Amino acid sequence: MIAKKTLKASVKALKDFAKKRLPDETLQELDARDECPLEIVRHMCSPDKLGIQLLFIPEEYGGFGGGAFDVYVICEEMARIDLGVATSVLATFLGSDPITVGATPEQKKLWLSRIAEEGILFAYGATEPDAGSDLGALQSTADRVMQDGKVVGYKINGSKQWISNGGIADAYTVLANTPSGPSWFVVEKGASGFKHDEPEDKHGIRLSNTAALSFTDVYVDADRLIGGVEGQGLIQAQAVFGYTRLMVAAFGLGAGWAALDRAIPYSTKRIQAGAPLSEKQGYTHKLIVPNVARLEAGRAYIEETAERIDAGEGSLNTEGAIAKYMATEAGNQAAEASIQALGGYGYTHEYMVEKISRDVRITIIYEGTSEIMEMTISRDRWQSHLKTRGQHYHEQARKFETLHAQHPSVGADVAALALHALAEVMEKARVGRLTRYQHILLRLGELIAYAECAGSLSRRAALMAEGRLNEKANQRFDAAALAAIARVFAREAALKVAQEGLKWVAGAGGVSGTEMAAFEAALGLPAIHRAQAGLISDMDYISDVLYGRAAKRAGVVAA
Ligand SMILES: Cc1cc2nc3c(=O)[nH]c(=O)nc-3n(C[C@H](O)[C@H](O)[C@H](O)COP(=O)(O)OP(=O)(O)OC[C@H]3O[C@@H](n4cnc5c(N)ncnc54)[C@H](O)[C@@H]3O)c2cc1C
Repeated sequence: MIAKKTLKASVKALKDFAKKRLPDETLQELDARDECPLEIVRHMCSPDKLGIQLLFIPEEYGGFGGGAFDVYVICEEMARIDLGVATSVLATFLGSDPITVGATPEQKKLWLSRIAEEGILFAYGATEPDAGSDLGALQSTADRVMQDGKVVGYKINGSKQWISNGGIADAYTVLANTPSGPSWFVVEKGASGFKHDEPEDKHGIRLSNTAALSFTDVYVDADRLIGGVEGQGLIQAQAVFGYTRLMVAAFGLGAGWAALDRAIPYSTKRIQAGAPLSEKQGYTHKLIVPNVARLEAGRAYIEETAERIDAGEGSLNTEGAIAKYMATEAGNQAAEASIQALGGYGYTHEYMVEKISRDVRITIIYEGTSEIMEMTISRDRWQSHLKTRGQHYHEQARKFETLHAQHPSVGADVAALALHALAEVMEKARVGRLTRYQHILLRLGELIAYAECAGSLSRRAALMAEGRLNEKANQRFDAAALAAIARVFAREAALKVAQEGLKWVAGAGGVSGTEMAAFEAALGLPAIHRAQAGLISDMDYISDVLYGRAAKRAGVVAA
């Protein structure tokens, strides 16, 4: 973990650099030309310049040894600047991950030190033309090259698809099938038989280089097999999912807020029907406030998960999936709403929100699509439901009822309603064996994410009220504002879980006509409906905070 002061200095250096070198006009030109600004990426990764990569390299290899929380903070900041450039930097984080978790001490020393000292760029080569979400379908091969009965090297054959930094990296971590299963190898640029294609012409993140790779009898020495043992590739990839998904979650968060931070000031200047748009409730309460609530729910989950990873709780893959799912879906919705918030101007290149919207789209695709996240979340929490005989979410809910007794204003009572309803939906799904329908399984994933994020946000609001939030945590909103945001999100989550849960259970034949009234009552629908009272005044308050109209009551710290 790095000191708060160092982290703050890095964020400031990043902001200053972006202001000078990546103003809107430059970003627009590069986007139009579909060009990766290699010199900028190298500047950001060079140890004697910005040195962003130093943050995640352990101190023993010349880095700063940043933890998951530090990396989240930096990733959010990079995404606020440009998601294409951020992706280029991320590719080195990802590319070096198999090394960080699985390499031998000698390999770590060699490659991590080179990233820290020389600022070399990595690419992470997992995806193939026919192996995307399902990496098990991998077809690239790494055949042993033997000498005197010993494995001295490997010959790699195959191709990789959609590889970030594919055309510009100095080194590549490449997943290929050895006789003992999938394994990671390091391949350096210029290796004989290794080629990359022209960069892809993409919908968004056009400042990032994405290219296909091909390998024809590419020879690597045996010491390029990461960890020195074959067949560890998928385990090594799994070992960092929680962490890497948090980075992409932070991308969704940063890009979503970058869009809103353009829409909010715009709406104070745009006069329609005699007043600024920022004073029109039908505008703020549709296009701005709900997006703030969803983004902050994603943030709460990211921050909690990062703290837990840093505390040594393991890789937390499911939590990483929930954080990614919520923050990236929220980021996409916020960017989309920001186009609408700027009207015709939003639809043009000049105002940037359409670029942000195109860019942030990738966050719900790479590092696991949203549908794969839904499946991951649902499968894991389904096991918790079964193991506890349906009590898992009821138990969680009771914790929030206790929190509500201590902090009555953070929406913990409504988060509890969401969690109780979720437990009931899952139990009906169990009794009716409804997860045999894949759609039901995935929809449960979405409902789980909403209910858990509602809890997380109310817990963060309570910590903030007590002044006990991690000193590196985002402080954009004060305790009163965060509590109002938590209440708004909890209402949305509870209603969604109960209504959509009922829809899917009934839709799959899990509840008969005579059972319906009892199921509605078990879901707590009347209480959830009653909990919607006060929603508009909470939204008014959040809107006042966002627009600096609540300065006397509570405030927003300038972004
Ligand atoms: C710009 C860009 C950069 C990238 N960078 C990298 C990189 O650096 N390194 C790397 O290794 N990869 C990279 N990728 C690949 C990325 O991770 C994959 O595109 C992603 O995992 C999805 O795989 P796919 O494209 O093959 O889609 P598919 O897996 O074919 O999915 C297509 C659709 O089907 C859905 N789907 C898939 N499986 C199921 C299922 N079992 N049930 C229900 N629905 C399903 C998906 O959610 C999706 O909506 C990048 C991709 C892009 C576009």
